[in-house]
Amino acid sequence: AWSVLCPSPSLLLSPQADAPQPETAALFARRRAHLARPQKNYYAAPPQIERGWKEHLFDVEGHAYLDMVNNVTILGHGHPKFAAAIGAQWLRLNTNSRFHYAAITEFSERLAALSPDGLDAVFLVNSGSEANDLALRLAQAHSGARNMLCLLEAYHGWSAASDAVSTSIADNPQAPTTRPDWVHAVVSPNTYRGAFRGPDTAAGYLSAVTPVLEAIDAGGNGLAGFICESVYGNAGGIPLPDGYLREIYAQVRARGGLCIADEVQVGYSRLGHYFWGFEQQGVVPDIITIAKGMGNGHPLGAVITTREIAQSLEKEGTFFSSTGGSPVSCIAGMTVLDIMAEEKLLENARTVGDHLKARLAALIDRHPIAGAVHGMGLYLGLEFVRDRTTLEPATEETAAICDRLFELGVIMQPTGDHQNVLKIKPPLCLSIDSADFFADMLEKVLEEGW
Ligand code: PLP
Repeated sequence: AWSVLCPSPSLLLSPQADAPQPETAALFARRRAHLARPQKNYYAAPPQIERGWKEHLFDVEGHAYLDMVNNVTILGHGHPKFAAAIGAQWLRLNTNSRFHYAAITEFSERLAALSPDGLDAVFLVNSGSEANDLALRLAQAHSGARNMLCLLEAYHGWSAASDAVSTSIADNPQAPTTRPDWVHAVVSPNTYRGAFRGPDTAAGYLSAVTPVLEAIDAGGNGLAGFICESVYGNAGGIPLPDGYLREIYAQVRARGGLCIADEVQVGYSRLGHYFWGFEQQGVVPDIITIAKGMGNGHPLGAVITTREIAQSLEKEGTFFSSTGGSPVSCIAGMTVLDIMAEEKLLENARTVGDHLKARLAALIDRHPIAGAVHGMGLYLGLEFVRDRTTLEPATEETAAICDRLFELGVIMQPTGDHQNVLKIKPPLCLSIDSADFFADMLEKVLEEGW
């Protein structure tokens, strides 16, 4: 049966082999009519994706695309071993997570073993938003305070609490006006553009945190914690300035608050040089949140913290997620870890990411619009500017470049509050050839115009 569900690559490369598909434009119109939330980041006339294989997607008309923005299916599309493992578990057992079965114990043990010492209490959930909501709730319960510190231009999810600390105006233009009074946002430490770029970047950005902390102190209601991504994701993967997190963590902890590392995008090997993003700053958070790639597209998330912090919620009685940590979810999570080790995906993210970064950096010498390459591993950002001195964002140009790349078979989207950065986050199995194809196509667009 599995050979039917996991077809060979050659079948995957001939998508027309399937039954007739609904007409693409009509299907899209039906989608827009019935999905309650307008989907952002869509091409005006998106292709009807029918299947995927490794870092490639195929539409119903047989076009192949290189998928350079997928931070969910990290193993690559159509992975036979992954599909077989979750399918087999589904046939054997899937049930409410309140039952007792081996997979939930084994997966929690493995997550604890991957985490820094002391962080060995695991909550299994279904998404990054849910993980961040729970992390914020834990920090508030543990500290007895409500105030949360976060960064501007951040995205942490769409559920109630994670949305409150999602400050990105590109994702939510209403964010500044709808922010609850317990959310205190400070300017993001953008080392490329922004108020404090330059030689003393960390000190400058830290100086912007001080008045916010002082205002919280003056309010007398305490500080519950601080949440941020360990790499500045929304700006295209800009590493935080050296020492930045160490100093903020110290100040937050001195006030009784907890430090939450949102590793939903940057954790789990994407950076290539580190398993967790916070390692790059030399800090250990009190709470880690993770989702997206950890389930390779199967809904799965986790909050990893200390036993003492986890117990802060015990007085709130029984609470649980019915499907978070279900047998299928746990098998999905463990199979992702097995395949990442077998296929050396962390090492691949490093090797291919370093190669791609060097190719993109070479564009800076030849094309004035290419202002900077950010990031590391397979979490890169190429920032387009109209002027390298004023750093005026090349927003319209970035959209046009993405459209032209699409015509050339590359799926790519802009990010950031100015939408002028290519957000490069392909499956971690990206080959050197595919990285070169992407760089070649980009170079072609920059040379020929867009
Ligand atoms: N945190 C970060 C950094 C994210 O990028 C996202 C999603 O894009 C989330 C949290 C929310 O995760 P989910 O979409 O699984 O709820």
